[in-house]
Amino acid sequence: MAADAVNTQQAASSEKTKPLVEKQSNCLGCGKPIKKIKRYYRNGKFYCNKRCWRKALDKSKEEAKQ
Ligand SMILES: [Zn+2]
Repeated sequence: MAADAVNTQQAASSEKTKPLVEKQSNCLGCGKPIKKIKRYYRNGKFYCNKRCWRKALDKSKEEAKQ
Protein backbone atom coordinates (compact mmCIF):
# COMPACT_ATOMS: atom_id res chain seq x y z
CA MET A 1 0.00 0.00 0.00
CA ALA A 2 2.65 2.48 1.12
CA ALA A 3 4.97 1.41 -1.70
CA ASP A 4 2.17 1.96 -4.18
CA ALA A 5 1.69 5.50 -2.95
CA VAL A 6 5.40 6.26 -3.28
CA ASN A 7 5.50 4.86 -6.78
CA THR A 8 2.58 6.98 -7.81
CA GLN A 9 4.21 10.08 -6.35
CA GLN A 10 7.48 9.38 -8.14
CA ALA A 11 5.71 8.86 -11.42
CA ALA A 12 3.83 12.12 -11.02
CA SER A 13 6.93 14.13 -10.13
CA SER A 14 9.01 12.62 -12.92
CA GLU A 15 6.31 13.61 -15.34
CA LYS A 16 6.48 17.17 -14.05
CA THR A 17 10.26 17.43 -14.26
CA LYS A 18 10.35 15.76 -17.66
CA PRO A 19 11.74 18.33 -20.10
CA LEU A 20 9.30 19.41 -22.72
CA VAL A 21 10.81 18.16 -25.95
CA GLU A 22 9.27 20.00 -28.81
CA LYS A 23 9.60 18.52 -32.24
CA GLN A 24 11.24 20.99 -34.54
CA SER A 25 8.82 21.49 -37.39
CA ASN A 26 9.92 24.87 -38.65
CA CYS A 27 13.05 25.85 -40.49
CA LEU A 28 15.50 27.90 -38.42
CA GLY A 29 16.52 29.85 -41.50
CA CYS A 30 13.20 31.14 -42.76
CA GLY A 31 10.72 29.88 -40.15
CA LYS A 32 8.64 27.97 -42.67
CA PRO A 33 7.31 24.57 -41.74
CA ILE A 34 9.53 21.79 -42.97
CA LYS A 35 8.00 19.11 -45.13
CA LYS A 36 8.96 15.55 -44.50
CA ILE A 37 10.58 14.90 -47.85
CA LYS A 38 12.54 18.07 -48.28
CA ARG A 39 14.71 18.90 -45.32
CA TYR A 40 18.28 19.72 -44.63
CA TYR A 41 19.80 18.40 -41.45
CA ARG A 42 22.75 20.17 -39.91
CA ASN A 43 24.14 20.25 -36.34
CA GLY A 44 21.03 18.61 -34.92
CA LYS A 45 18.62 21.10 -36.50
CA PHE A 46 16.42 20.99 -39.54
CA TYR A 47 16.27 23.48 -42.38
CA CYS A 48 14.56 23.61 -45.79
CA ASN A 49 17.82 23.52 -47.66
CA LYS A 50 21.45 24.52 -47.55
CA ARG A 51 20.58 28.15 -48.17
CA CYS A 52 18.38 28.35 -45.10
CA TRP A 53 21.07 26.62 -43.10
CA ARG A 54 23.64 29.22 -44.17
CA LYS A 55 21.15 31.95 -43.37
CA ALA A 56 20.61 30.63 -39.88
CA LEU A 57 24.34 30.11 -39.45
CA ASP A 58 25.11 33.71 -40.41
CA LYS A 59 22.35 34.89 -38.09
CA SER A 60 23.74 33.00 -35.13
CA LYS A 61 27.22 34.28 -35.92
CA GLU A 62 26.00 37.85 -35.94
CA GLU A 63 24.24 37.29 -32.64
CA ALA A 64 27.44 35.91 -31.16
CA LYS A 65 29.30 39.04 -32.22
CA GLN A 66 27.01 41.40 -30.36
ZN1 LIG B 1 13.93 27.52 -44.63
